[in-house]
Order: sequence, then structure tokens, then C-alpha cells
Amino acid sequence: MSVEKRTGRFDSPHPPRLPVRGFIFDLDGTLVDSRLDFDAICREMGLPEGEPILEALERMEPTHARHCYRILDRYEREGAERAVLLPGVPELLEHLNRLRLRQAVVTRNSRAMAERMLSRCGLDFDPVVTRDDGPVKPDPWAIHCICRPWGIPPQCVVVIGDFRFDIEAGRRAGAITVFLGGRRAVERQPGAEQADFRFDSLQQADRLLRTLGLPIIPYHPSRESTRNFR
Ligand SMILES: [Mg+2]
Repeated sequence: MSVEKRTGRFDSPHPPRLPVRGFIFDLDGTLVDSRLDFDAICREMGLPEGEPILEALERMEPTHARHCYRILDRYEREGAERAVLLPGVPELLEHLNRLRLRQAVVTRNSRAMAERMLSRCGLDFDPVVTRDDGPVKPDPWAIHCICRPWGIPPQCVVVIGDFRFDIEAGRRAGAITVFLGGRRAVERQPGAEQADFRFDSLQQADRLLRTLGLPIIPYHPSRESTRNFR
């Protein structure tokens, strides 16, 4: 029976192909919140608000690009220092550990900032693929890069993120995609309609796991390890 038929509440254009064997998370806005103000970054760089920043930097002439990279670096550094774990994340990760499901992070952040955010929030993933490693989302390169050594086809991996590029990368790789709305109404955000599933946040982890056909196990934080399954 398909997931949609079982839950009766999802109208997905891309039904998932089970069984799920791994999760690839976006970092900022998905696992942690650094309150990065992308519109402020664009304004300071002289870019239109909403412009994808990394792609704009690629098109700039080198001197201006260096100036703008310094702006981005300052914002990201400040963001990394105030990053906090988002609600529902520890419970979900612990669940995935006990189900022995692989977990990785793919971010458009730099490696230095990604590692700072993860360690500040007590998270430990391997691999963490950043913009320093290769083509960034929406390119599916990082997803293939993770799935290959795992020996798991992307069709059995869930890609979760809060931005249209997360979903686009996941879809292009052939993965199951989950869009998180965060503080904004999920259905009004660009890219959300392309995802297999949409949730407000990982606080709805039980619903997410049920939707993906994964078992729910009661959570006892005091007894659990914090290390993610690799
Ligand atoms: Mg994000």
C-alpha cells in the first residue's frame, strides 16, 4: 500500500519509493537556526533580495567577488556563533540512530562555518558536504557523493531542507524529498510544492516517520547516546 493511501493526507506529485535507508539533512533552518538574514546580505552586496548568493558571487568580477565573500563570511561567522538546535531535532536523530539509518549533512555553507554550527549545537555527522567540497545544491552532486560510499541508491534516501534548492537537489538525485516550512506557511513557499512531503518543522518527526513507513519508538533522552549512526 502506498504511503499516501495509508495516511490519506498527502497529495504528493512524487510518491516515495520505500524502504528508507538514510537521511540527508540541510543544516541551517533544518537542524539548526543561525537566523541568517539573506536579504540583508543581498542588500549589502548590492544584489536584489532573494538572489541566490553563491551563484551571484560566481558571476562577479574577481575584486568585487572578494569583497562580497568577506561580507558573506562575516554574516556566516556571526550566524554560526548564535546557532541553536531546532526543536525536535535530537528526538528525530535518536530515532534514526536506533533504526540504524544513515545520516549526513549537505549545506551551501562553508566547511568552517558548518563545523562551527554543528559543534556549537552538539551535533556530529559524517559526512558533512559543504560548498568547499564541490558543486552546491541545487546540483545533486553531494547527494550522489554520499549515497555511493553508503551503497544506498538515492531512491532510498530522504533529503530534508527548508529551501527550494534542497528539494531540487533531492529530486534531481531521485531521492525522497521533505520540505520544512519553519516560521513561514509551508504551502506558500517556492519549491514546497515540488517536495514529496511538507511539514512545518522536525517537531512533527513522529508524523514524518509514520509517513515514511518507519516505526516509532518511545524517546528517553537520559538513556540515549548523542552520536549519530554512520
Ligand atoms: Mg536551509
